[in-house]
Parts: sequence; C-alpha cells; structure tokens
Amino acid sequence: MLAVSSLSYADRFVTALPADPSVEPRARQVHHACYSHTLPTSVAAPRILLVVPEVAALLGLDPTPTAELAEVLGGNRLVPGMKPYAACYGGHQFGTWAGQLGDGRAITLGEIVSPDGDQTWELQLKGAGPTPYSRRADGRAVLRSSLRELVCSEAMHHLGVPTTRALSLVATGDPVQRDLLYDGHPRFEPGAITGRVAPSFLRFGNFELPASRDDLPLLDTLVRFTIDTFFPGKDIAAWFAEVADRTAWMVVEWLRVGFVHGVMNTDNMSILGLTIDYGPYGWLESFDPDWTPNTTDAQHRRYRYGQQGQVALWNLGQLARAIVRIAPDDQVPRIQRTLERWPQRFAAMHRDTTLRKLGLHGRPDTVGTDDALLEGLGELLLSAEIDMTLFFRGLATGELDEAYYGEPSPAHVARRAAWLDAWAARTRLEGVSDEARAARMAAINPLYVPRNYLVHEVIEAAERGDHAPLLELVDVLRRPYQVQPGRERHARKRPEWARHKPGCSMLSCSS
Ligand code: AMP
Ligand code: MG
Repeated sequence: MLAVSSLSYADRFVTALPADPSVEPRARQVHHACYSHTLPTSVAAPRILLVVPEVAALLGLDPTPTAELAEVLGGNRLVPGMKPYAACYGGHQFGTWAGQLGDGRAITLGEIVSPDGDQTWELQLKGAGPTPYSRRADGRAVLRSSLRELVCSEAMHHLGVPTTRALSLVATGDPVQRDLLYDGHPRFEPGAITGRVAPSFLRFGNFELPASRDDLPLLDTLVRFTIDTFFPGKDIAAWFAEVADRTAWMVVEWLRVGFVHGVMNTDNMSILGLTIDYGPYGWLESFDPDWTPNTTDAQHRRYRYGQQGQVALWNLGQLARAIVRIAPDDQVPRIQRTLERWPQRFAAMHRDTTLRKLGLHGRPDTVGTDDALLEGLGELLLSAEIDMTLFFRGLATGELDEAYYGEPSPAHVARRAAWLDAWAARTRLEGVSDEARAARMAAINPLYVPRNYLVHEVIEAAERGDHAPLLELVDVLRRPYQVQPGRERHARKRPEWARHKPGCSMLSCSS
C-alpha cells in the first residue's frame, strides 16, 4: 500500500489525445482538443469523511486518512506525476442537442496504474472547482449529492451492476449555494468532493461533439485511442456492437435491481457501459414502470424506469450517427444492423434476467409457459402497491405480506394465488430442490438496496456532522444479497413520511 505521493501514472489519455493549448480557466468553447489542462481550485478545510478501502486497494493506495490524502482528494495539493485535466464533450440533453458541455466540475488528476500493473484507473475529483466547461456554474458539489454518488456507485458495484467506483468523500469546509427545489429559495449547503474511479470516464458525448463540429480528424483520433486502449483488435463496427451490448446489459441490470438513472443524457452514457454520473437517480419502491425520481423530467418522464431500454437505444443511435462519419463504407451496414437488432437483443436479455429472478432458466420447451408467467407477473405487480425489492425476496421465502404498501384488494389476492400456483408448477420443471432454488433467487434478488429514504436519512445525519449512519449504510450495502442480522432496518420498505418528501422520492438536478 502506497502513500498518495508514490502512485504511478499511465498518462495514456493526455499523451495520445490533443490538448487545448490554452490553460485559461475562463469558460469558453474549446476546439480541436479532447481536454484542457485544468487545476483544482483550493478549498478552505478539506476533511476526509470516508475513504473506501476496497477502492483504494485497486489503486494500491494506503486508505489511512492522512492530512496529505485529505489535501490531495480535496484538490488542495498535487503530487508529482499528476497531470490534471477536464475533458471536452457534448451531449443530447432530454432529446435535444446541447452543444459543448464537458467536465464542468470534474477534474481528472491522473490515470493510476494498479499495483499488478494490469489495469489503469482514472482518478477524478467531482466538485473540484471551475473548468473551461463550467459555463455559468460554480464547479462545486454539495455534500448531499456527493454522498449520494458515493453510496450508490459502491452499492451498484456490490450488486454486480457495471459502474464507476467511488474512492472518497471529502468535506471542503466551503459553503455552496443551491436552490434545491428550483423555487427561488437558494440556501447554503456544505460543499464536498467525491473522488471517483473508473478505467475511463469517456462518454458518448465525447464522440458526438467533434462529429457535430465536422472535426473528423479529432473524432478519428479519439475513436482510435478508445479502441486501441479499451477494445483492442476491433474495427469500428465491432467496437460499436460491443458498446451496444454492454449498454444493453447495463440497463437490464438496472431493471433487475430497480434502479432509475434519472438523467440518461448522452453525456451521461459511458463508452465502457458503466453506470456513470449519479445525479437525481432513484430506486423503485412500489413497482411502477412510469416512475422517475427526477422532478426536472416530471412532465415528460423521458427517463422513467420502464423506458430506460428505449432511451439507451436512442442514445446509441446518436453515438452511431457520430461514428459513421469516420467508419469505412463497408462497416456502416454492420453498425446499422447492430441498431436494428438491439431491441430484440435487449428484450431477450431482460426476459432471461427476469426469469432468473423467479428462479427459472428459459428453455425451448417452456417458451409459452414462461411468456404467460411473465405477463401474469407484470399484471400482478401493477394490481397493488408492491415493493419490488421485498416482493422478489419474499417469493423465495413465502413472506410476501411485508412487500405491500396498504391492504391488497381481494381481486389482487385471488390473482396472486393463481399466479403463485402457476409459478410453483413451472419451478418443478427446473428439477432443483426448493432450497437450491431459494439460494439461486437470493443471489439475484437483493435484500438491501440504497433506498431513497435511507440515503436521505444518512444525508440529514451527515449534514448534522454525524457520519456513523453513512459508514453503516456503506457497510450494509457491501453484502446486498445476504441477510445481515441486526440490520433489518435497512431492508424495510419506505415509511409513509417519505412517500412524497423532496430528497426522498423527488429529486432535482440541483447538486
Ligand atoms: P449533469 O446533468 O449533472 O451530468 O451535468 C451536465 C453538465 O453540466 C456537465 O457538463 C456538468 O459538468 C455541468 N455541471 C453540472 N453542475 C455543475 C456545476 N456546479 N458547475 C459546473 N458545471 C456543472
Ligand atoms: Mg454528467
């Protein structure tokens, strides 16, 4: 385990890709460059609230919260080898081309080489101060949103969902002004910085921006870098097929655990198929495909739970539109075919995953039975207010009552009995014992997820200076599939007070 001053760096991104020649921090349009050299802006009093030891281990970093580590992860000190930059990208926001966006408050400190030398990890500080891409904003992040990113990205990792990781949460000691409800009542909140880690934070939007500017040489350089570094040996069409597949799998995994990203703009879509940029995300409580936590999207519900697959496809269409500009002619039909076949592929992955949540493996001779079972399941979940997480958990144990918000109707109870009979009959075709099936189901249906109200409670405590609930929640979420005696509280369904509470079931982009 090394001190933060002794890590080694790969510098692939900054070496292979063109830099903005200007080092001015002023907000501006940046052309013919993939990034700008940008330094973090110092904060008043950086204080480590949490270092995630298993993420530190990926970097070979000693997680002891020393003053030096606080200074580095708070953006007050650079150590030799770091070459900080902010990336230049664009994006489609809520279906509309938004032009240049870029890392407006995230600054990558460097690409750290793992101890075994096999992997490199970008270490990025989110909330580290203004960059050329900050537009009119302050480059900062508040404690509540930084904490939400750390808790959820780590929870996703332990759930088995592809995601960026979180290394650290640092309180800055500087107040940050935000209008939480966008209702003209801004208040000062504690500022914080999340240290986050991923093989790369490249987004669809990094490719869209040079394409939109007809800067094909830059697009070509970026595509080559991306393929050589992360998808070696693939041509452009094969690379796109891989991105499409990973994206499909990521969204299927979101649906499996009940996650709603909330802002699936193309600048928030990772080229590696990782869940990225945790903002106004949420977790399904009662199963409702139309639900979104994002109040900014409340009217059109573009990014609602049940539409995330279609949105992913739309976003992949935007990526395809960008990269066909430089793809050899004979590869364009393959890119087209990937898009055409995607809905079927996505649906098949989703079907397979939902069957596995029921303890079943799809087989050629049960297609009809399974289709009927899945259709019945959808109707069942919609005919009462049912907690998705507790329902799937309760199926294996027979304890379904806990999953209900309110008393189910007699019609629902009758429907449920019929469905459970059909399901039980189908499970017998699997040829496994009840115990083996229950174990299978417990390994795919989590008991603990970062429920909206739980995270809200942890934020309220942290804002009062009590960080014990945060540490406990992060720890519970390390073993989301395992019953943890004494931690029943973390598995409870949403209490009534949290039903419509801002910050619990409703979140804005203000962060
Ligand atoms: P998001 O929807 O949070 O992914 O952000 C969209 C764009 O706004 C990105 O380019 C962000 O870097 C930028 N952005 C969001 N919040 C801030 C902020 N407080 N300061 C500067 N840029 C920001
Ligand atoms: Mg973003």
